Amino acid sequence: MKATVWTGKNSVEVRDVPDPKILDPQDAIIDITSTAICGSDLHLLQGFVPTMQKGDILGHEFMGRVVEVGPEVTTLKVGDRVVVPFPIACGACWSCQHGFFAGCENTNPNSWMAEKLFGNTTAGVFGYSHLTGGYPGGQAEYARVPFADVNPIKVPDELSDEQVLFLSDILPTGYMGAEMCDIEPGDVVAVWGAGPVGQFAMLSAKLLGAERVIGIDRFDYRLAMARDKVGAETIDYEQQDVLEALREMTGGRGPDKVIDAVGMEAHSPRPDYAYDRAKQMLKLETDRPFALREAIMAVRNGGIVSVIGVYGGFIDKFPMGAVMNRGLQIRAGQCHVQRYMQPLLERIQAGEFDPSFVITHRMPLTEAPRGYELFHQKLDGCEKVVLSA
Ligand SMILES: [Zn+2]
Ligand SMILES: [Zn+2]
Repeated sequence: MKATVWTGKNSVEVRDVPDPKILDPQDAIIDITSTAICGSDLHLLQGFVPTMQKGDILGHEFMGRVVEVGPEVTTLKVGDRVVVPFPIACGACWSCQHGFFAGCENTNPNSWMAEKLFGNTTAGVFGYSHLTGGYPGGQAEYARVPFADVNPIKVPDELSDEQVLFLSDILPTGYMGAEMCDIEPGDVVAVWGAGPVGQFAMLSAKLLGAERVIGIDRFDYRLAMARDKVGAETIDYEQQDVLEALREMTGGRGPDKVIDAVGMEAHSPRPDYAYDRAKQMLKLETDRPFALREAIMAVRNGGIVSVIGVYGGFIDKFPMGAVMNRGLQIRAGQCHVQRYMQPLLERIQAGEFDPSFVITHRMPLTEAPRGYELFHQKLDGCEKVVLSA
């Protein structure tokens, strides 16, 4: 089959690789119809996430038809159309039983690596380095999906791939970011990052009752999307001082809730950007937490800081004094996608919203390297690339 593989720093290729096989009686093989390139794939692309190996198949946002099931699979059959969540959950461990699917204790065969870096293991993830199990990803023609009764969700034929594909990651991730904010009527929610996850966090904040949503980014096309498609107000951080602008927009108090949808590769026009970038290059700091620091400084006293942007390791100059003295709460997490897929599918089916508005580029799987380039360099107004396999 054809698959998108990581071939070194800033290099991906579509190569012929062996077809996946059933390895466990609870596996299913999916014939992939649509798959997407995610912002977190860019962290892998650039080598910011350790433990990538040349030849690893990328991709953790995919859907398709079941073509084969293992003998112990009971809920899926050949021909079912499914979307696959990015964290691989076993469904049986303490974490899965408590809904913390991204913290599944059984699906990461390299749990020792995660334990060393994070203190405890995280779930296995498709196409997301050996730290999360080294599972082949879904930017390919086929994928093996473990625990097939627990993970994929069946989707009805009347919805298009583009309407349901993002249930695999970015829609639930954005939604969880807003849900962690415990939004109350009248709340102002500010979101750093108007990429696809940021757009869905803003959309979800509105669905959950925020009165005003403010998106912060530096790309015009992203800010325009936030205004036109989500009804957000926007701040261009290259044009305005974010803290000042937010104070002005909120009567001097700051937003009630803030969401970091940027993560480890934040940009900033301010001097600490050079500091963080240099430290990251020298591997003295794994992540550039600029958006997170700014979000903490911006939120009102007693506010909530929700972190859904990806961080890999350790950060510097963390404003713990602001967190403690102003009574802030920090909530974070890789998304427990399995919790949100069914309820969000039902909202899409009911016509409450259509997540396909973030898609700007569509191309065949064979053009994945071009998709990576457009998305990475933010060329041609690239917000989200969907590949058809
Ligand atoms: Zn993703
Ligand atoms: Zn589990």
